Amino acid sequence: MVAAIINGKEIAAKKRLEIAKMVENLKENDIVPGLAVILVGNNAASRTYVTNKQKACQELGMNSLLIELPEAVSEKELLGKIIELNDNPKFHGILVQLPLPKHIDEKKVIETISPLKDVDGFHPVNIGRMMIGQDGFLPCTPFGIMILLEETGISVAGKHVVIVGRSNIVGKPLGQLMLNQHATVTYCHSKTKDLKLHTSQADILIAAVGIPNFIKAEDVKEGAVVIDVGINRNESGKLCGDVDFAEVSQKAGFITPVPKGVGPMTITMLLYNTVKAASESIHR
Ligand code: NDP
Repeated sequence: MVAAIINGKEIAAKKRLEIAKMVENLKENDIVPGLAVILVGNNAASRTYVTNKQKACQELGMNSLLIELPEAVSEKELLGKIIELNDNPKFHGILVQLPLPKHIDEKKVIETISPLKDVDGFHPVNIGRMMIGQDGFLPCTPFGIMILLEETGISVAGKHVVIVGRSNIVGKPLGQLMLNQHATVTYCHSKTKDLKLHTSQADILIAAVGIPNFIKAEDVKEGAVVIDVGINRNESGKLCGDVDFAEVSQKAGFITPVPKGVGPMTITMLLYNTVKAASESIHR
């Protein structure tokens, strides 16, 4: 079987058109959605991510602000900036690019962002809301994966979803979103025994591991839906996912490529969350 490709770039473009319309509607009410991004230090990958997020905001006619702080900034000063932004009505979303330098407590930073402006969906209040199926901000990568499946016409209800990876930003929340939509969920991680036993039973297999080409054809059930979250570089420096695309695409029913799979959806859902925050600010 040769897998159908789930084209994240195309689905993201379609979603961004919808978000652009939401931005126009808000502008008619004199609200320009705004995202403030705080970048600490000089990590090259973080800088690229932040630049892409800002560019995406500008393309949709949203305001974006970049606050750059030196690597040695104190935790107190960083928290102070967040508190200022919490009170600034021009910015509806606040994002602190992770990872942070070791002397700064990431947990404190996330918890200082107002849950009403937490467009990354990392604040415990938003995570808790997601757990019990209440409205809030959903973490962007898992949210984007749910939209990819929905737009491809793949229902998760009753399916066995196996997720390899249990990070707080991808694996764990994704499993909860799947469960909320009535999937049967299995989580796997570095301590899982006989990983293949689990992955080969998946109707929908998610790879969020961070190891290049980790999932091979023998790990996958014939006709399964395979979602590759990984963003890695192989030995020759080329971008690749956690799934061995060449092999697995000959066995799966659907597959996301890397690049142009999950990646474009993450920023798209960040834009969506910022517009949602702006639109909810009207009622406060
Ligand atoms: P983390 O490093 O936080 O988590 C990796 C997970 O994989 C952990 O749960 C770990 O298990 C598990 N793992 C590691 N080795 C194995 C193994 N041998 N067998 C089974 N499980 C294993 O990564 P993230 O969740 O942050 O990211 C995962 C990947 O997704 C990365 O490549 C990252 O770059 C990419 N990513 C892509 C995004 C996008 O927009 N497309 C967004 C975010 C991330 P344990 O918990 O036991 O340590």
